[in-house]
Amino acid sequence: MGAGPGGLASAMLLAKAGLEVTVIEKRGTVGGRTSTIEQDGFRFDVGPTFFLFPQVLREIFAATGHSLEKEVPMYRLDPQYRLIFGGGGQVDATPNVERMKAQIAAISPGDASRLEAYFRDNREKLERFTPILQTEFESWRDLLRPEMLKMLPLVRPWRSLDSDLRQYFKDDRIRLGFSFQSKYLGMSPFSCPSLFSILSFLEYEHGVFHPVGGCGAVTAAMARIAEGMGVKILRNTAVEELLFDGRKVTGVRTKEETLDAEAVVVNADFAQAMQRMVPNRLRKRWTDERIEKKQFSCSTFMMYLGVEGLDKDVAHHTIYLSKNYEQNLKDIEHNHVLSTEDPSFYVQNACVTDASMAPEGMSTLYVLVPVTHESENVDWAKQEAGFRTMAIRQLEKIGIKDVEKRIRVEKRLTPQTWNSDFGLHLGATFSMAHSLRQMLHLRPHNRFEDLDGVYLVGGGTHPGSGLPVIFESARITSRLLLKDMELEPKWNPAPRLEKSAVYEVAR
Ligand SMILES: Cc1cc2nc3c(=O)[nH]c(=O)nc-3n(C[C@H](O)[C@H](O)[C@H](O)COP(=O)(O)OP(=O)(O)OC[C@H]3O[C@@H](n4cnc5c(N)ncnc54)[C@H](O)[C@@H]3O)c2cc1C
Repeated sequence: MGAGPGGLASAMLLAKAGLEVTVIEKRGTVGGRTSTIEQDGFRFDVGPTFFLFPQVLREIFAATGHSLEKEVPMYRLDPQYRLIFGGGGQVDATPNVERMKAQIAAISPGDASRLEAYFRDNREKLERFTPILQTEFESWRDLLRPEMLKMLPLVRPWRSLDSDLRQYFKDDRIRLGFSFQSKYLGMSPFSCPSLFSILSFLEYEHGVFHPVGGCGAVTAAMARIAEGMGVKILRNTAVEELLFDGRKVTGVRTKEETLDAEAVVVNADFAQAMQRMVPNRLRKRWTDERIEKKQFSCSTFMMYLGVEGLDKDVAHHTIYLSKNYEQNLKDIEHNHVLSTEDPSFYVQNACVTDASMAPEGMSTLYVLVPVTHESENVDWAKQEAGFRTMAIRQLEKIGIKDVEKRIRVEKRLTPQTWNSDFGLHLGATFSMAHSLRQMLHLRPHNRFEDLDGVYLVGGGTHPGSGLPVIFESARITSRLLLKDMELEPKWNPAPRLEKSAVYEVAR
């Protein structure tokens, strides 16, 4: 259920293993949050714009006899993004160590010499953590597995990401440059577990990629391959409920029909799917009441702007980090109000490297402002127009001027529309938060523990949100499902940590 990246990857793997697979998708297009909005010749990614660690998907493609590189041309960006600090200064983040050290030194001379130590320690952390990302966590006993025990000294649960980075970098801005990635998980660097320092490391070590045509091109290719393998994708078809005999799933009901199934893989947002499609009485652990008590990620206010002309001096990816970053985060995570003074934001100006995203003479701007998930403190019907005006004004801080009069196409999303159009509980764009209490065996399990024959895939289950781990969740889930059916998976399970040297570098 659901043709997001997790659902599509599972469909490919399960079809490869010989199962008859039907994907039921409520929207007219595949890809979920990783899809494309197309209008008047403009192409916008809905959600993901950073394609990281292609290795996992490459192996899934290879397992089905396809080449990721051939199906989805993509290139590695260098610089991978520009960071502009509200507190002054900017960094063009690059995997080239000497160039990166020079950028750091321009802001904080003493911090440059610690870059290599940060890389060395995180290389080890990532290596030790990789086996944990590749296997299921079904009970606390799994914490006692040898790979977990090896990892423990590096986890430091008492340390936040920000305090972990203090051992390398003294300057707040440099630490932010290596910790804002926690927002990919919808979390603050000041509360996010220190373990996630591997996220920024992953970008430097393995690259930030741009698939030509945007990340939506990846899910479009996955759907094309899955359909070529005989997978049926029913678009514009919403599952209304899962059907059970006792606690064993027997199929699903859509508005039009009932479909029988031996197993159901749920890719729709976990909280919303459970609360709306599975009777509460059937769930022992993940009851509606328990789900309500969980911590959910932040949301985002989105503007997709098709504009006349191209802002040539604005990088492919720019992240603006507010001078009052901590206050901005408090507003998002604790006060649940809108920051209107000087919020952080992110802009993708993809046409500087990929002209295919807009008609000639035009370009696309994707603007993301992290905001609180739905809260009674914010009434988007009343506050959206003012917030938009403020967000347009903020763009000047990264060099985008006079944009209002150049706009030819505009679309927006708020936490409310993430909820209503994309089915996300509270409009939480990065699913359930990734606090230590909601990770590993404490996250909803890939083989869903409350029901028989129900499996979860995507950002709401283990290992978590973010495309590489979502693809990893597809492998874990598919493997478990096949094991329960006493079938052999027909793909190579072990990803390698090789660097992605095969792609062209865009400067
Ligand atoms: C704004 C934003 C930016 C992001 N940026 C990045 C990034 O740069 N890099 C990165 O790695 N990750 C990023 N992510 C996180 C994550 O990778 C994506 O959100 C990803 O698409 C989540 O995949 P998923 O498989 O969990 O499912 P989804 O993409 O959420 O797909 C689930 C599908 O289920 C369907 N569905 C729901 N209910 C039903 C129903 N009742 N019946 C049938 N179908 C249903 C939905 O329509 C949807 O198509 C971003 C997310 C957002 C929102």
